[in-house]
Amino acid sequence: MNKSKRNAVIAGNWKMNNTPEQTTALINEMKPLVANADCDVVLCVPFVDIVAAVEAAKGSNIKIGAENVHFEAKGAFTGEVSAEMLTACNVEYVITGHSERRQYFGETNETVNLRSLAALNAGLKTIICVGETLEQRKQGVTKEILSMQTKIALKDVTAEQLKNVIIAYEPVWAIGTGETATAEQADEGNKFVRDAIADVYGADVAETVTIQYGGSMNAGNAEELLSKENVDGGLIGGASLKAKDFSIIVAAASK
Ligand code: PEP
Repeated sequence: MNKSKRNAVIAGNWKMNNTPEQTTALINEMKPLVANADCDVVLCVPFVDIVAAVEAAKGSNIKIGAENVHFEAKGAFTGEVSAEMLTACNVEYVITGHSERRQYFGETNETVNLRSLAALNAGLKTIICVGETLEQRKQGVTKEILSMQTKIALKDVTAEQLKNVIIAYEPVWAIGTGETATAEQADEGNKFVRDAIADVYGADVAETVTIQYGGSMNAGNAEELLSKENVDGGLIGGASLKAKDFSIIVAAASK
């Protein structure tokens, strides 16, 4: 009913894949395949590929994003990259709170909030990831987990800044496993996120926020997932490394 109020966004998350040379080749292959998209098309790439990606995407409808950002502006934070460094490289999007960052690199709801605020303050469109583990789903606390993660991630984010926020609902058990949530589970998870946003910003504002589903979305299941009322796009891992598969997902979101 309100899907038309929202921007559909298909974003690839390349994770730790592709050299700069491979980046240029893959984006050049993708460009003609997604040129007629009727949705936003984003590729979030490793830091070292950003310059090559921005250059390869020039003049096309592909926007480039990073896979993380630090919350401090500068200083002794070995291995980290600031929001200003990203915008200086013409990056437009960034992912925060991906479950792999939470799981393997100790990121918490609080640091995800700080990273998201730093990104938003720099004017970056910020894809904030939330999602329950399999254990939490089995315990019946999916709604509570999604609500908590969403509300903490958005702490101190103004309604104006919320216009640059995309939330990606990514059940941890469905990421990189080949096990996709059913379209109903994806829609329900996204609705839980939308309800949490409504609690803080009101229902009218919540209706305008793009909420993606992520977790083994691929060329074969994208159309069904994206047909759901609360699924406004996808965050795509594995399938974003294959030009043809990614373009099929983009086409499904453009219908
Ligand atoms: C992701 O990394 O955000 C993701 C959804 O991965 P995959 O599509 O491979 O499950």
